[in-house]
Amino acid sequence: MIIHPDVTLDRVAEAVERAHSSLDNPGFCICCGAEAEGVEPDARKYECESCGEPGVYGAEELLLYLAMAG
Ligand SMILES: [Zn+2]
Repeated sequence: MIIHPDVTLDRVAEAVERAHSSLDNPGFCICCGAEAEGVEPDARKYECESCGEPGVYGAEELLLYLAMAG
């Protein structure tokens, strides 16, 4: 899985924190780096509103991946 360099561990961790402290459901597109809203935490390969690619993942899903990737 190739993740856009704009999708950093810091951004994703912040989004997960926000999801836990509010009603936000943030996610990120790994193709273009855009942040998405209304994404389930375990979403994978949703279509991105910015670039049209199926690259949107839920923030928690991405955090797990980034944490494993180091
Ligand atoms: Zn995108």
